[in-house]
Amino acid sequence: SSTSEPIRLEDRIRDIPDFPQKGVLFKDITPMLQDGPSFHAALDRLAAHYAGAGIQTVVGVESRGFILGAPLAYLLNCGFVPVRKFGKLPSQTVSVEYALEYGTNVVEVHKDAIQPGERVLIVDDLLATGGTVSAAMELVEKLGGHIAGIAFLVELTFLKGREQLKGHDVFALIKY
Ligand code: AMP
Repeated sequence: SSTSEPIRLEDRIRDIPDFPQKGVLFKDITPMLQDGPSFHAALDRLAAHYAGAGIQTVVGVESRGFILGAPLAYLLNCGFVPVRKFGKLPSQTVSVEYALEYGTNVVEVHKDAIQPGERVLIVDDLLATGGTVSAAMELVEKLGGHIAGIAFLVELTFLKGREQLKGHDVFALIKY
């Protein structure tokens, strides 16, 4: 019966052409988030992939990485650490500047958020060029954390972001 068919997450990722600018095909994950069984299945599948991997901290990248990262940390029974845009974190931070298509961006993490040798899983909603997640990786490495995995809901394989993440365990639930 239809109730026993596995949930197809890709059916709930919506394509928005020319957002936020002309030529970009935006993968909108909000239809998946707003459907309870799909959101649940996505998190269960991510958590299953990292069961037994000894993850100690989940790092989520602002802002869609928070939506997935926090419940994933809960399922893995570990802590959650936010990587935020410049100026948002109240205590002492380390920061990394990275290149965007136009200009640069700065992301930060609290200095005491990760201990040396801690096994960290970095989470974001989507892997495109890999620039954003590379910045998050640099932050984790600055604090001496061990990057045990990098997880995404969606990977745009044609942008070859994975090549920037060589040597790491990269996992995506949906690939285009
Ligand atoms: P990148 O740094 O190029 O890997 O871009 C990844 C970040 O930008 C992620 O945090 C995504 O949320 C966002 N992003 C980039 N391209 C897209 C796209 N086509 N659709 C949705 N989000 C995107």
